Amino acid sequence: MDRRKCVFCHYSRVRTNSLGRIYCPRCKKRYSFKKTERVKKIIEYFALEIPANKASKVLHLNYKTVYRVYQRLRRKIAKRTEEEFRKLSGEIEVDDAYFGGRRKGNRGRAASGKTLVLGMLEREGRVFTSLPENLGLGQVLEATRRYAEKGSVFYTDKFRSYKSLFIYGRHFSLDHAEKFANGRVHINGLEGFWSFAKERMLKYHGISKKHFALYMKELEFRYNHRNNDLIKLFTELW
Ligand SMILES: [Zn+2]
Repeated sequence: MDRRKCVFCHYSRVRTNSLGRIYCPRCKKRYSFKKTERVKKIIEYFALEIPANKASKVLHLNYKTVYRVYQRLRRKIAKRTEEEFRKLSGEIEVDDAYFGGRRKGNRGRAASGKTLVLGMLEREGRVFTSLPENLGLGQVLEATRRYAEKGSVFYTDKFRSYKSLFIYGRHFSLDHAEKFANGRVHINGLEGFWSFAKERMLKYHGISKKHFALYMKELEFRYNHRNNDLIKLFTELW
């Protein structure tokens, strides 16, 4: 980073005072060079998925300083995801997964402290997650109505709550798989996302439901941008 240029508008005649505070006469912004550099470093560590406690040790920073940047990034990611949302369409895989908790619970029930996540994946497109209260028919239909275009093609497993998805388009469940030789009836895309998310969520054991929603959106964003330069994306978001 060039110290003589404004970090916001790149104007080359910024004024620096004795405390290292910078003032840009063009865009009228005031900032601290040291602080800006520090935040940049923290964003890099966030992009590289280095936990806040580890990052704070390596960077010799207070844990809270790092954690605050991480959480603010997560909130910004969630906000961006919401702003950019458009309904999924075309071929959509729908599936549910449970995160956290120790015991194995029954599917479709709020079981043993686990958090239910409903996932939808648009083939050749994005994954979108939501957190319904349960996996009852009503919740599944409501999520589908809100997040998917009518007339889409839905692929699910055989779970009973998915049986009514034909209301919103065509529906194939995995028990049709053998009847369709072209092999399109599967939910492999979502399975890929679940393992991506579960592996990472292990690092955040024991987080509250409120935080869980933020972490889930973070993982969704990371997955949808897995082929992009995340450091650049997160810096822009900031
Ligand atoms: Zn400026």
